[in-house]
Amino acid sequence: MLTKLKIRYILAFVIAAIATITPIAIGQNWMPAEAQNSPKTISLQSAGLQLQEVAQGTYALIASTDFPPTSPDVAIANGGIVIGSDSVLVIDPFQSTDLAGLMISTVKSLTDKPIKYVLNTHYHFDHTGGNVAFVSQNIPVFGRGVIREYIQSGRGDTGKVTPPTVIINSQTDIWLGDRQVRIDRVDGHSAGTDLVAYVPDAKVLFTGDMVFNQRIPYTADSDLRQWQGSLYRLIAVYPEAKVVPGHGNVTDVTGLQAQQAYFNWLERQALEWKSQILTKEQVLEKFAKVPDAYKDFKFKAIYPLNLESAYEQFTRSEIIPLIP
Ligand SMILES: [Zn+2]
Repeated sequence: MLTKLKIRYILAFVIAAIATITPIAIGQNWMPAEAQNSPKTISLQSAGLQLQEVAQGTYALIASTDFPPTSPDVAIANGGIVIGSDSVLVIDPFQSTDLAGLMISTVKSLTDKPIKYVLNTHYHFDHTGGNVAFVSQNIPVFGRGVIREYIQSGRGDTGKVTPPTVIINSQTDIWLGDRQVRIDRVDGHSAGTDLVAYVPDAKVLFTGDMVFNQRIPYTADSDLRQWQGSLYRLIAVYPEAKVVPGHGNVTDVTGLQAQQAYFNWLERQALEWKSQILTKEQVLEKFAKVPDAYKDFKFKAIYPLNLESAYEQFTRSEIIPLIP
């Protein structure tokens, strides 16, 4: 009995230690910067960002840097700018105050219209760390579900992030003068805080991290079956959309399908591990190498997390797989 208890205690300790170390290791070098006394001037180039007009008045700031970045002022996530007839929506103001400043100066270079709203596609700090620059100007920042609670509790290294000021829990239309943007719920990436934004007149869909284009997806908070389900729905609802992913280049329905195919592959792998009765440790050791099919993907540093998530969620699940 005592030995059993001891083993349990040691196991609990090891799990707690891994849980503590993992976000720290992942967060290294790209933590949201402390509020700085003298904001630095950074350029799109130094931030690793490229401005692209995806459709008329609809822009993406595309981050090309690998993970983890060398400095907090190099963006790893994409941002979005939607310009309506009288105002502007900003999507995901990056991970630092300086990068948010760069977002604001980029908007000013495109239009005189004011920024009316900011959207956080989910709570992760590479998308929310710049919120403070907008909240301090009384610009409403939208987020979903328990996003404030997550950020206030510092989940996923968001301890220094300013939370959104408006919570959206169902499909919501906002208007930038005569331009409509539809904000919709999706699930699976970030434990109940995922939102997408669609601009109907331009057929542009900002997916947040539902899509990692040519990148290994971050799955530490994931529910992979929900994620797959949401991808099926986005493909069905927006078959003609231009897709601005959370990470990686602008794509279209093929980017949604590629993300779906990646998870289907991961699920098939996991069911194979299950049939071979492998332990998680064996899987992490045996399959540590990123397969050739994904050798050109960025964010390879988070591949072990994918194995872990797949193991936890698929090999231990009783649910019938979604694989077609
Ligand atoms: Zn992200």
